[in-house]
Amino acid sequence: MDITCLSCHKVISDSANFCPQCGIKLKEPALSTSIGKQILIYFISFFLAPFGLHYAIKYIKRSDSRAKMVGIVSLILTISAIALMFWITSSFMNALYQPLNFNGF
Ligand SMILES: [Zn+2]
Repeated sequence: MDITCLSCHKVISDSANFCPQCGIKLKEPALSTSIGKQILIYFISFFLAPFGLHYAIKYIKRSDSRAKMVGIVSLILTISAIALMFWITSSFMNALYQPLNFNGF
């Protein structure tokens, strides 16, 4: 299928990432949604939570439904990891300050 370049109006192939005539960027190259890449993103999302957000946003913004799905899963994992981190921290703090409470503080 052919499309018309928005910049120079030349008819070009819709598979091109850049216009061969004027060089304008036509679309973002597809993001990898391979199993290996997904595992890497999910791993980062969960174990290095704040960094996963970068991937989540990058993938969610895509119109490609497969990439979007990877982004959504990554976002859910990031939120879960952060929630878990808060829960562990608060449990730890409670355990730490428990003896003080017994002494009437
Ligand atoms: Zn062009």
